[in-house]
Amino acid sequence: MLVVGNWKMNTSHAEAIALAADVVRETEGIAGKAGVGVCPPFVWLDAVAERVRGTQVALGAQNVAAEASGAFTGETSAPMLSDLGCTYAIVGHSERRALFGETDADVAARARGAMAHGLVPIVCVGETLEERKSGDAEAVVRRQLEGSLDGLDVASDDALVIAYEPVWAIGTGETASPEQAQDMHATIRAALRQRLGDLASGVQILYGGSVKPGNAATLFAQEDVDGGLVGGASLDAAGFAAIVRAA
Ligand code: PGA
Repeated sequence: MLVVGNWKMNTSHAEAIALAADVVRETEGIAGKAGVGVCPPFVWLDAVAERVRGTQVALGAQNVAAEASGAFTGETSAPMLSDLGCTYAIVGHSERRALFGETDADVAARARGAMAHGLVPIVCVGETLEERKSGDAEAVVRRQLEGSLDGLDVASDDALVIAYEPVWAIGTGETASPEQAQDMHATIRAALRQRLGDLASGVQILYGGSVKPGNAATLFAQEDVDGGLVGGASLDAAGFAAIVRAA
């Protein structure tokens, strides 16, 4: 089980440091069976790294460049993030796809860039409300998965994490039902099995989209739900810890 907080574009410098310290304190002792991670804004990664180093809380970035270095203004590379102590990098978050035009091919390149330098990419997939209503959800997610994992050489089951985040459930307060989540996670597991064989059973598939202390336990109880990628609720350390406890 794994629970990762995605702070998105929130927190001041002081707030990020305080939140990191609170998450370390609140998840102490309970994070033994579930891995726990936080993904602060890039500018606070260094400060947060200092607070979480040597603790049970892992560090992640909200994106990562495909290339290791060079003329890519505004980008941050996997070697830089590794250097800072990052374990994870989210790639292909639906906000990156919808607002910044990242395609499946871009996402795959970023995931490859992460993996090439020892970061674990958290590859996000998920359908829109229209796609779910028209019955295309599974096909969309399968297509995103195939495109977003293109060329990725997965050597072990802990080298890759998938996050299923239905776009209609992100930041809306509306959560996929445990059955909807399980159905899609099973579809993802089956697609991973075709690609990775036996490794697929150990790849963690997180659910994301309005995960809260009140709904986490039933979501995490589903067979193929291996934890959560938590946005809004990760900005409150006590609530986030309650979600970790449910994992
Ligand atoms: P949310 O965001 O928990 O605020 O819905 C999840 C995410 O976008 O990762």
